[in-house]
Amino acid sequence: MSDKAGVCLELRDDVAGIDQATEILCAGGTVALPSETVYGLGADATNALAVQKIFSAKNRPTGHPLIIHVENIDSARFFSNDFNVVAETLASTFWPGPLTLLVKRSSKVIDEITGGRETVALRVPANETFQKVLHAFSQVGSGAIAAPSANKYGSVSPTTAQHVLSDMGNLIDAVLDGGNCVVGIESTIVDCTVDPPAILRQGAITLELVNSALRHTGVVATEEFTGESRAPGMKLSHYAPVATVKLFENKDALASYEEQCVLNELSFATILGHEDRELYARNLYSLLREADALQPKEILVLLPEPIDIGVAIRDRLFKAAAPH
Ligand code: AMP
Ligand code: MG
Repeated sequence: MSDKAGVCLELRDDVAGIDQATEILCAGGTVALPSETVYGLGADATNALAVQKIFSAKNRPTGHPLIIHVENIDSARFFSNDFNVVAETLASTFWPGPLTLLVKRSSKVIDEITGGRETVALRVPANETFQKVLHAFSQVGSGAIAAPSANKYGSVSPTTAQHVLSDMGNLIDAVLDGGNCVVGIESTIVDCTVDPPAILRQGAITLELVNSALRHTGVVATEEFTGESRAPGMKLSHYAPVATVKLFENKDALASYEEQCVLNELSFATILGHEDRELYARNLYSLLREADALQPKEILVLLPEPIDIGVAIRDRLFKAAAPH
């Protein structure tokens, strides 16, 4: 696979596309893959040179660890030397799905993935296309795919193949077009190495869901979404458009701010989101991208209520609104 800027293959979601994606992974290349969360920039997680290509395409600091995606729990156990009872419980309840588990690494995990840490983040994605690629890649290669979001470090995550092409089409070998991501925001991350286990990043698998699965094992602590994160690579400003993002708890406050903008001749775009919070999550990054494309000075966003996936949407929006 070429290291130089060049043509990005656009692969279809069919047998030939999955074969080609698998060949690129085997050859140490990079291919953006659809998942239920966001599009991931995939490379062979056991190949240091391939993993380095992810960091350079994204311009991501090398100390920021990557999630390894695998086909099933057995493959996950291979990468951990302490896949403990918390990890087993959460994996059997929520995998395949939008949940990442932080566990002690095994010697099979290379330092480039973890930034030298003794822990590794693992996930079994539910997206059918991603699953097919994982299955094919475990027949002919390592079966382990590192796949952070397929966008430039710190910017808005991609939820369509078009988003990937416009962000990094000249920096990667291919993108497999699997349509829109159904969840639309990144996976929940649970640190299974601490007692009690802790949610490091909110997502579609909510605190309540994790707690109900762990009722015999312990309680889950959670991060204040506006506070410092314990997870490396989760700086406060993230998921950020170019325009300044301003957040509002209710429509009245947003409407009166719009009036002020008009009076002061300040350009703005407004995102009201959706009452249906799952739909809001699914469309969040497209809405932010569309608003940003209008090149307003400010993007005004109505926050969802902090209920179920609303907590994770608010987390992303607070980070999108943080100074950068
Ligand atoms: P993403 O960039 O969406 O793929 O998410 C990767 C995030 O997972 C990182 O930024 C970390 O916050 C977290 N993560 C991955 N691996 C580790 C690890 N070994 N230790 C702690 N956090 C991790
Ligand atoms: Mg990301």
